[in-house]
Amino acid sequence: MVNSAAHRSSDTQPIDALIVGAGFAGMYMLHKLRGQGMNAKVVEAGSGVGGTWYWNRYPGARVDIQSLEYSFGFDERLESEWRWSERYAPQAELLRYAEHVADRFDLKRDIRFDTRVTAAHWDEAAQLWRVETDRGARTDCRHLILATGCLSIPTDVTFPGLDTFKGPIYRTSRWPHEGVDFSGQRVGIIGTGSSAIQSIPVIAAEAAHLTVFQRTPNYSMPAHNGPIPHADFEAWSKDPRAYRAASKDTGGGFQNEANATTLATETAPDAVRAELERRWAWGGFRILGAFADTGIDPAANRIVQDFIAEKIRAQVADPAVADLLTPKDHPFGTKRPCVDTGYYATFNRPNVELVDLRATPLKAFNAQGIATSARQYDFDAVVLATGFDAMTGAIDRIDLRGVGGRRIKDHWAEGPRTYLGLMVAGFPNMFTITGPGSPSVLTNMINSIEQHVEWIADCLVSLSRHQQTSIEASAEAEAAWCRHVAEAVTPTLLPQANSWYMGANVPGKPRMFMPYAGGLHRYTEICNQVAAKDYEGFIIRQGDRVLSDSHVFTSHPPMPDIPASLWPIIIERLTAAGLMPATA
Ligand code: NAP
Repeated sequence: MVNSAAHRSSDTQPIDALIVGAGFAGMYMLHKLRGQGMNAKVVEAGSGVGGTWYWNRYPGARVDIQSLEYSFGFDERLESEWRWSERYAPQAELLRYAEHVADRFDLKRDIRFDTRVTAAHWDEAAQLWRVETDRGARTDCRHLILATGCLSIPTDVTFPGLDTFKGPIYRTSRWPHEGVDFSGQRVGIIGTGSSAIQSIPVIAAEAAHLTVFQRTPNYSMPAHNGPIPHADFEAWSKDPRAYRAASKDTGGGFQNEANATTLATETAPDAVRAELERRWAWGGFRILGAFADTGIDPAANRIVQDFIAEKIRAQVADPAVADLLTPKDHPFGTKRPCVDTGYYATFNRPNVELVDLRATPLKAFNAQGIATSARQYDFDAVVLATGFDAMTGAIDRIDLRGVGGRRIKDHWAEGPRTYLGLMVAGFPNMFTITGPGSPSVLTNMINSIEQHVEWIADCLVSLSRHQQTSIEASAEAEAAWCRHVAEAVTPTLLPQANSWYMGANVPGKPRMFMPYAGGLHRYTEICNQVAAKDYEGFIIRQGDRVLSDSHVFTSHPPMPDIPASLWPIIIERLTAAGLMPATA
């Protein structure tokens, strides 16, 4: 019984750490803790390692950060023996890489596959987490490390009559391992986020006919995928250490030529255009860093929006379709932009049709397919690319209870609260890797994962060295961090979109910008300062004796270098949000 989890002990001895999830985060955490002589185990719901790249096998799935940077840097031999085939590796290659890492470090012997953690209760008296799984296994551990991924739980989206459809329904995030052959089929796909934008061109090339049901268009930039350009490989291979250090010392955790000084609104239109063209030609996320004001000033953002709208018009033959594919409801970059291969041009194919669900809403599924308010569409198969319960979904689906039996769901009823995105007040010895309140999904995930894993590992070494039994975020430090997370995002345009960053894609989910928008470089510095100040903001105990009881969080990051003319906008937004006292 779940309710008794805290009041029983397992048959076996407690282990030092239980890690939930065998994606890149869980794998590196296991490797790191083993290296420190700790007894650590992993529980993984899937049948193999790889997390995101294990589950998301839809056609066209590939990484949207260049593979040279989206790979581990913690081991030089691992780094030197792996060669990526393309700038943006496809899912199968990323999964092979995950398997290679697991084999290389002999990780699988400590991973329990096909097992989902269902409950974890903190036992105050024993200073242990008592963990249960859907297989009935029970484990007691001193530390619980949630490496559960930010985009691992699909939303529960459903449609009237869904069960009545006679053909197969595929979710992009739960794609059959044997693949799907759409040849000769009439296929419908719902959604136009990254997963759909990657899969639509591939499905369209195979299926007899593809109907795309779009509710909200997204911005997408060309990947210009292909072999890794020689110059990039040279720059990297000359000194991978320095290259990685430079990547980690950026806001996004990857090299993007981020321009922190030039304003689009104060630059001659020809020069703005030339810079946007240069970055568009380079591809991927590079256009995001073109000017210092596009993420803050609506007028600057509009310049990039117009540029991309023009690019869409240039790729799509039918002006009405191009217009439908052009985002109008959110500033560029406030939802995670997509990186595509031939997405817009796919709508020029005679076998592809775009349906605007805003004009003709989806009414219901039926045996033959989908009925909108305008007409019936018959299909052989339907694909749901409808997104994820991001950042909190995988955590709050576990029956997690901390001190006094407090549930994480209750603690997070108004949105996820953490200290540094690493720990939660009232949940001692429980860590989150790339959890809410950390830069995570706004960055190159692998670099964020490495930073978190290394910080957590150092923290556990420090506890053990000082015979300390528990560490817990103080409520005050957690509150101060939440305020700082709000301070970091409020000056930007990010909160203006109905994005999954805001929890807006899940009905009933509290509206709160979940990741930390202050940048990976500044965030890393804060985490390092906190550790250097004997884990400022954390309560550290030895049994029931409190050894260190720090309730403050003073480790503020260095101020970002923001051009002076943006300060009035920033001050206005901070003041309106109550994060800055109004001046007389
Ligand atoms: P998503 O961006 O949340 O897109 C979901 C899509 O489904 C949206 O177009 C949404 O429309 C639509 N949708 C949801 N419910 C619907 C409903 N009831 N009726 C009609 N349409 C509905 O999800 P995603 O594409 O899976 O991407 C999520 C994130 O995963 C990305 O932002 C990215 O961070 C990551 N990802 C990365 C890669 C990569 O690295 N290459 C690839 C895929 C995904 P609305 O916008 O109107 O809600």
